[in-house]
Amino acid sequence: MGLSDYLKLKWHTRAFSERDIRDYQWRELNALIRYAAQKSPYYASILPKEGLSSWDAYRALPIMDKTTLMTHFDGINTEGLKRDDIERYAVEKERNKDYLGYYQDRFVVGLSSGTSGNKGLFLTDKALTQRLPFVFLARSGLRLRDLPFRILFCLRVFSQGFADINAPGVSLHYVATMTPIDEVKREIQERRINVLMAPPSFVRLLLVHASSFKGQLKTIVCYAEVLPKEDKVRFESQFGCRVIEIYQASEGQIASACAHGTLHINEDLVVAELVDDLGHPVTQPGIPGQLIITNLVNRVQPLIRYRMNDWLVLKDGCPCGSHFRAIDHVIGRQDDVMVFTNHLGQLRPVFPDLMSRWIITFDARIREFKVIQAAIGELRVLIDTQPHAVEDRFLGQLKRDLLKHLAEYDLRAKISLELVTLTYPADNRKFKRFEVNTAKKETSDVGKRD
Ligand SMILES: [Zn+2]
Repeated sequence: MGLSDYLKLKWHTRAFSERDIRDYQWRELNALIRYAAQKSPYYASILPKEGLSSWDAYRALPIMDKTTLMTHFDGINTEGLKRDDIERYAVEKERNKDYLGYYQDRFVVGLSSGTSGNKGLFLTDKALTQRLPFVFLARSGLRLRDLPFRILFCLRVFSQGFADINAPGVSLHYVATMTPIDEVKREIQERRINVLMAPPSFVRLLLVHASSFKGQLKTIVCYAEVLPKEDKVRFESQFGCRVIEIYQASEGQIASACAHGTLHINEDLVVAELVDDLGHPVTQPGIPGQLIITNLVNRVQPLIRYRMNDWLVLKDGCPCGSHFRAIDHVIGRQDDVMVFTNHLGQLRPVFPDLMSRWIITFDARIREFKVIQAAIGELRVLIDTQPHAVEDRFLGQLKRDLLKHLAEYDLRAKISLELVTLTYPADNRKFKRFEVNTAKKETSDVGKRD
């Protein structure tokens, strides 16, 4: 099964015309809809049992989000699984740091714990999970000329899906993202690793050792967090290798990089729509749209028109020639968008990728940072420059710089800055560079002027 999946996936990316994509999606979508209408009590009342009459009918289906998913968990899944049981199982696994194994020997349970307490439980069939490594290989953007792949995989948590990767010419070694950085360096050298897979925040930690890997590392694959363009450029020049991303979430395998390093939507695995904040479709390249997906391959927990927190900006095609839509960049999470006021007192959003760019490009010694917004127009910015020391005036200059950038957009702000040592969460939560909680005003923390 694995190899045929690999070939099929390769074939789709290269050969599908736009028309083929639409036809393929239409068949898969209708098969899913008929299945869900029949097997899921929740969808039975929403979806037409005989399938869809048109794409317009599809776009008229209600949009689902994580709250709906969790509220109607028992009715949505097609296997009669109960949220209470699954939750107990997931929490127990989490507590014991035991990330292997299948629920009832059949299902992979994914737990995503949003910092807002918005927990999500995701179910995947074991059989599907075992095919995912082939999705990864077919769509990883790795070049066959770099075979054999000696991959170091830096994971926050280990999961069964990754344990099953086993293919000729590919060896995988795992380290936890909490592993001391000198040890990781040793692993890369001793195992002659040529492919590093890690979240961008972890790659940033390795930057101090970048010169020792030059010529050895062929590819860095980033995943799990948004990879800002500035980081990509910096990694490429300092490690002297290609840097590509894959974009996957508990909700699905959303996009993979081609040999040119462009992220393409996996049009044969998900139906992806982009909408603006009024819910209108966004189809033009260059304009941000919030991602709404239908996962075409997950039958256990059908996600049909599911709203992700991520916003995407598409671009016009890619030299590889694939008709799978190309992503220019992924914009942080919706709840991380910062809010400021202009001189008329109107509220204006600032997307995290813009703020990231301002901070990262200010000084190359900034290794990591965190921005906390506890009230509209007020930021607390934590900066970590280790192992480099910085001058006394460093923070003052950065603050002036940020205020100037904001002022160019007619935005005003109060900013406080601190030099700190930032550590990564020991559990499986993503490191959040942006925390926005403007509803809960914590006056003790904001408004400090330095
Ligand atoms: Zn491409």
